[in-house]
Amino acid sequence: MWGSPSKAAMKEMMREMDYITLVQDGQRGIPKECPCGGRIYHEISKIEGDLGNRYFTCKAYKNDGFHWRVPWFYSVEEEFDKLMEQIDEQNQKLSGLETQLKKMSEELRNQRGVIAKLKDLVEQAVKNIFDGW
Ligand SMILES: [Zn+2]
Repeated sequence: MWGSPSKAAMKEMMREMDYITLVQDGQRGIPKECPCGGRIYHEISKIEGDLGNRYFTCKAYKNDGFHWRVPWFYSVEEEFDKLMEQIDEQNQKLSGLETQLKKMSEELRNQRGVIAKLKDLVEQAVKNIFDGW
C-alpha cells in the first residue's frame, strides 16, 4: 500500500519547489548574490565545447537547480534593459518635478507680490495712525 507523504515531507517538497522556481525565475540582470547566499563570480568556461563562454556563477555552484550559473551575455543584456527602464522612469520623474518646480516658482512670485502689497498697506495704516497723533 502506498502511503501518502507526511505533512512535513509535503511542506519540505513545496519549499524546495518554491526555491527552485526562485532560482529559475528570480534572476534578471547581473546577479549580485545567489539565492543560496553564495557569492557570484565571473566564470570563463574551460569546458570543452563551451570553452571561453562567460557566466555569472555561484561560488557554491552544483548542477542541482539550487544555484545560479547565468550566461554572461544574457545577464548583461538584461541589466542594460533594466538600466534603460530605470533611466526612462527617472526621466519621467524629473519631468514631473520640473513641472512642479515651475508651478511653485510662479506661486512664489505671486505670493511675493501679495506680501509686498500687504507690507505697503500695513505701512500706510501705521502712518495713518501715527499721523493722527
Ligand atoms: Zn548558490
